[in-house]
Amino acid sequence: MKFYSINNPTIQTSFKNAVIAGIAPDKGLYFPESITPLPADFFENIEQFSNQEIAFKAIHQFVNEDIPDEALKEIIANTLDFDFPVVQIEENVATLELFHGPTMAFKDVGARFMANCLGYFSKGEKQDVTVLVATSGDTGGAVANGFLGVDGVSVVILYPSGKVSEIQEKQLTTLGQNIEAMEVDGTFDDCQRMVKTAFLDREITDHKKLTSANSINVARWLPQMFYFLFAYKHAKSKGKELVFSVPSGNFGNICAGMVAQRLGMPCKQFIASTNVNDVVPKFMENGIYEPLPSKATISNAMDVGDPSNFVRIRHLYQDDFALLKEHLSSFSFSDEDTRTAMKAVHAQTKYVMDPHGAVGYLGLKKYQDSEPNTYGIFLETAHPVKFLDVVENSLGLSPEIPPQIKKVMGKEKKSVPISSYDDLKHFLLADH
Ligand SMILES: *Cc1c(COP(=O)(O)O)cnc(C)c1O
Repeated sequence: MKFYSINNPTIQTSFKNAVIAGIAPDKGLYFPESITPLPADFFENIEQFSNQEIAFKAIHQFVNEDIPDEALKEIIANTLDFDFPVVQIEENVATLELFHGPTMAFKDVGARFMANCLGYFSKGEKQDVTVLVATSGDTGGAVANGFLGVDGVSVVILYPSGKVSEIQEKQLTTLGQNIEAMEVDGTFDDCQRMVKTAFLDREITDHKKLTSANSINVARWLPQMFYFLFAYKHAKSKGKELVFSVPSGNFGNICAGMVAQRLGMPCKQFIASTNVNDVVPKFMENGIYEPLPSKATISNAMDVGDPSNFVRIRHLYQDDFALLKEHLSSFSFSDEDTRTAMKAVHAQTKYVMDPHGAVGYLGLKKYQDSEPNTYGIFLETAHPVKFLDVVENSLGLSPEIPPQIKKVMGKEKKSVPISSYDDLKHFLLADH
């Protein structure tokens, strides 16, 4: 299968090259040239398959020209060695917990899948690949963990000093080996600007093969469709039409879910739930896409003012706004709404939602106001312990710290402090 640039379908390349380059030469996002539905009996008999078998069948058509079946099975086995429980918390309302991976963020699956693909592709290559990534918190830990010890790949993570939580900082600064953390004297936007500048800097790109590990990369984006299939396996027996509410920031996760629907997964509606960064809810109301500077919220992994993957969703619907509206609803919620929902759900059911999951819950409830006869699943994208202060302040309780997190808390932080683009450039041009 070829992948083409969304800006210009004549620019095409293989899965392998799309993963290594991250983005097309004309700066467009890569998109698969076709999505062929899986046989109907796959969905009828889905409960007979393990998660790894489901993942293999789902992703096979997109990667099989570049990765032989046995290697793909191994990549999937390395990616999916933890659980994805669906927990019902109210009648017709369940949550899909995506936080049981090594860094307790849903980004673990995409990061590990991409790391394993790059590791596979760089076997026998003379030049190492350098993954350069800016993080506002969660991406850094998932990427550091996923790429740790992968031969032929080194990783440089930029994070804003003093602006990530202690747990997040430990997750990205304590691993060592092929992972370097750059502690930037600045904001997340400064980190992101430095990364973008480096990608355009010929002095660096002539010297190093650079790629990105954000969800624009097809190897990080596409495997997220697995989650929706795992949830479908669970929800099928409920005998009601299924709807998914996805707490959204860059819209990679929800877009992957829409690809799963194109593979034939029965599903009535997707709900894109956002915090006050409401570019997409506004677009779904009036058809006008107006990017804005991001606003800080308690669900900070979704503080995005110009979601990078939304163009993929529009493309999936050929920019047919009326048709898109039939399949996608979108709602925005304030921090106050989010805290109120966290409290109410905890009081009624004892279930502890993190602020991102709570936004997903709210979007689902709003949709079900007018569509009560549906079975709704909202995605819990991070463990509540990763947003400890919000959970403690809202619920007045301290969730127990899980072993994955305890393990890194005692380790020593190692970072390279930088304050300008020249510092980063100097680091990338030096040989390590
Ligand atoms: C990244 C992230 C999101 C948003 O996912 P997108 O694919 O960017 O829409 C939501 N919740 C958490 C906890 C995240 O880390």
